Amino acid sequence: MKRLLILGATGSIGTQALDVVARAPGAFELVGLSAERSHEPLLAQARRHGVRRIALGDHDAAARAAEAWTGGEVLAGPEGLVRLVAESGADLVLNAIVGSAGLGPTIVALTEGIDVALANKESLVVGGELVMALSEATGAQLIPVDSEHSALHQLIDGEPPGSVERLTLTASGGPFRGRSRAQLADVTVEAALRHPTWAMGGKITIDSATLMNKGLEVIEARWLFGTPYDRIDVVVHPQSIVHALVALCDGATLAHLGHPDMRVPIAYALHHPDRVDVPVPTLDLAHVGALEFESPDLDAFPCLRLAREAAQAGGTATCVLNAANEVAVHAFLSGRLDFLGIPAVIDATLERLPAARVHSFDTLYEADAEARRLAAETVQVRA
Ligand code: NAD
Ligand code: MG
Repeated sequence: MKRLLILGATGSIGTQALDVVARAPGAFELVGLSAERSHEPLLAQARRHGVRRIALGDHDAAARAAEAWTGGEVLAGPEGLVRLVAESGADLVLNAIVGSAGLGPTIVALTEGIDVALANKESLVVGGELVMALSEATGAQLIPVDSEHSALHQLIDGEPPGSVERLTLTASGGPFRGRSRAQLADVTVEAALRHPTWAMGGKITIDSATLMNKGLEVIEARWLFGTPYDRIDVVVHPQSIVHALVALCDGATLAHLGHPDMRVPIAYALHHPDRVDVPVPTLDLAHVGALEFESPDLDAFPCLRLAREAAQAGGTATCVLNAANEVAVHAFLSGRLDFLGIPAVIDATLERLPAARVHSFDTLYEADAEARRLAAETVQVRA
């Protein structure tokens, strides 16, 4: 039995992971669950899955959970989350927290030598270099959950070192694919949340609509696979059937295909190196019919360009990019910023906070806080 801890259990990835776990009786012992605020769903999950220890990021929510639950222990706040990971004795931590709040738990797990199934791409966008060094130092593995990176992990596995020339990530293009910049000026939150192929949490759904998600994923791929940025391509593929491709030195290109269902990469990461049955229909290409590909439109969707520029700048730039994006997306979702304001806020924040060298995780926490402050200012000015 693998001892498994799930962080961000109440979210889109977290609930699908619990579905994967429930379908494999005897494979996992769940040693803990966490959420930010939603204490009632978290308690229901703990009861259903026989979990004895949970953590809630929000102190009030933790206090309510502790009152309502006699079946186990409730930890509170960011310190509680750290304890949940550090004292878990887990073999594997699934990090399905959204945003840079996921970086701390990734660091704690790797420091303890615990393997991490990583959905929280922001951990690598913010702290890729230090996170990879930590994983190297402790021998704890990072297994990607992001579908494109799971695909790449499978495609690269078994290829001799030095044989991979290029990586390609596919992007659905989101709900606004094909629109010009002018046609994006007055899009609503509701329209932006209507993703054509994937059902996901709110933040990543907006990131998919702006193409920032693909920018974050280019950075994620660079750190996971050690591939330089100029060898990582993005192609828009509206059907989301091909998840990623690798071009090899001998002229062969390998692709990973499947229906868009996150339970596939989640099951891959949780059961790795084993393979298990996942209840998704077998891919029938004749039924799918056509697979289309096109270049991303960087004029209408400048977030992908901003992400590439920050990636090239290096240092704290991707941390700043991420923090400004989180602030801007949150402002858009709460009606305080227009859709085109998202790249504008990120651009302005990157301008005001030039890339600096990263000496330690503290450098990153400081850059994250400063970028949030400046981004919030720009949101205010624009409103
Ligand atoms: P979500 O919003 O549905 O869920 C987020 C979870 O994290 C919730 O359980 C929430 O309580 C918890 N959380 C939120 N803020 C927190 C904080 N400050 N501290 C601790 N916990 C906090 O998000 P999601 O769509 O499941 O995405 C989770 C991560 O997985 C993101 O990094 C996302 O980019 C990545 N991802 C998601 C999908 C998908 O299909 N949903 C696909 C690929 C990658
Ligand atoms: Mg993805």
